This record gives sequence, C-alpha cells and structure tokens, in this order.
Amino acid sequence: MKAYLSIGGNIGDRGKNLAEVCRRLREHPQLKLLKESSIFETKPWGNLDQPDFWNQVLEIETDLPPLDLLELCQKIENELGRKRIIHWGPRTVDIDILTYDNREYKDDRLTLPHPRMEERAFVLAPLREIAPEYVLPSGRRIEEVSGEGEVRKL
Ligand code: ADP
Ligand code: MG
Repeated sequence: MKAYLSIGGNIGDRGKNLAEVCRRLREHPQLKLLKESSIFETKPWGNLDQPDFWNQVLEIETDLPPLDLLELCQKIENELGRKRIIHWGPRTVDIDILTYDNREYKDDRLTLPHPRMEERAFVLAPLREIAPEYVLPSGRRIEEVSGEGEVRKL
C-alpha cells in the first residue's frame, strides 16, 4: 500500500532528526521509502515564540496495516525524544500519516486522511514537489491548493 507521511520538528539538530526518521523507516523490513521531498522551513503555528520547523513529506510503500504504521511512527517519535509538554509547542519530531492508500479511517487513535493536511502549506508544498499530479482527498488537484503558512524550501 502506498502512504504519505509528513515529518517535522523544531528542536535540536533538525536536519539530523529528519534524516534519522528516514533511516529508521528504511531499516524496517515491511516498508520501502520511495520518495523524499526537500526540506521546507516553516514558521511555527500558534505559539510563535519557538524555533522554525523543518518539514518534509515522504512517500512510502508498506504492507503494515494503518494502525501498525501509526504505532511505528509513534515509536520513532518516542525514540527520538519527542516530549509533548506544550500543545503546538516545540518538538523533536512529529510524524503524521497523511494518507494511506486512499483509505478512510476514524477512531480515537487515527484519522485518515489526516484532517488538516489540505490546510497546511508545510504539508502541501513538499507533497507537491514529490507528487505534482496528486489529487487531494477533497478532489482538488494539489497544484491548485497552497494552504496556509509561510514555507521556504531550503
Ligand atoms: P499533531 O500531529 O496534530 O500536531 P500529535 O502529533 O500530538 O498532534 O498527535 C496527537 C494524536 O493524533 C496522536 O496521539 C495520534 O493518535 C492521533 N492521530 C490521529 N490521526 C493521525 C494521523 N493521521 N497521523 C498521526 N497521528 C494521528
Ligand atoms: Mg502528529
């Protein structure tokens, strides 16, 4: 199954943390990392008094079911020392599943597609780079939607 992940963080060595996420994903036997976007620098949402985020979107192929994929993402987040102290506050690394094989899913652990993906420039800009023909869950073409926020390709 093909899935897209959004990864980002604003604590510590941001480039190293993103690279470490990719390394761990590549190491997983049930997962292939197909595409990796450039890194985009993003002004933080909400709480502005924190460093800029570095964000990336990844295209993967996996036979892990959605909840197992979520569990893997959370395990990597925890291993990289993500601390959730402040809502929308600084974080080492956040890994979100944007879409999974065009599937819809909703329970208290996981919502697919990710409900905020079409609002966020830090998701749309890197996704557009690796999947320029992509049609969003709303049916709009990715080239027509830019989302909110200030992003800059590094
Ligand atoms: P956010 O990503 O919105 O900034 P968090 O990373 O703290 O917030 O995630 C909060 C919860 O969102 C997680 O515990 C996870 O169970 C849930 N969640 C729901 N849908 C998804 C998804 N598509 N990808 C990742 N996490 C999700
Ligand atoms: Mg998250």
